[in-house]
Amino acid sequence: MAGEPQADCLFCKIVAGEVPATVVRETGTTVAFRDINPQAPTHILVIPKAHYRDAAVLAAAEPGLAADVLREAGAVAADEKVDDRGYRIIFNTGAGAGQTVFHAHAHVLGGRGLDWPPG
Ligand code: 5GP
Ligand code: ZN
Repeated sequence: MAGEPQADCLFCKIVAGEVPATVVRETGTTVAFRDINPQAPTHILVIPKAHYRDAAVLAAAEPGLAADVLREAGAVAADEKVDDRGYRIIFNTGAGAGQTVFHAHAHVLGGRGLDWPPG
């Protein structure tokens, strides 16, 4: 069923506490944790606790939950004090765009200059 935990999903395992993560924020519907391979001084992943394969599928199924993820991304940026300088919220969508974990997640990147367009 849409949104149900998937046994083979790394981020569902993080939600369940079966895989450890450095959690920086948690709400009833979301978890934010530090990326294991940071690409910037601040690199945090914000995920819905429910499993959707990517951000667009999440937004189509549960727009309120997609909004929760975006709001938490902003809260993470404020907590990390990267909001004044500017930060980037990225949803890699599809393998060709670099998505490797098929559980929707926002990358929150900040604390350094961020080129445009991204590579
Ligand atoms: P994607 O490539 O799907 O957009 O992003 C997946 C992200 O998850 C990558 O930036 C990768 O470094 C991160 N990641 C992969 N495995 C783990 C893990 O076990 N723990 C944490 N905290 N991050 C992970
Ligand atoms: Zn999942």
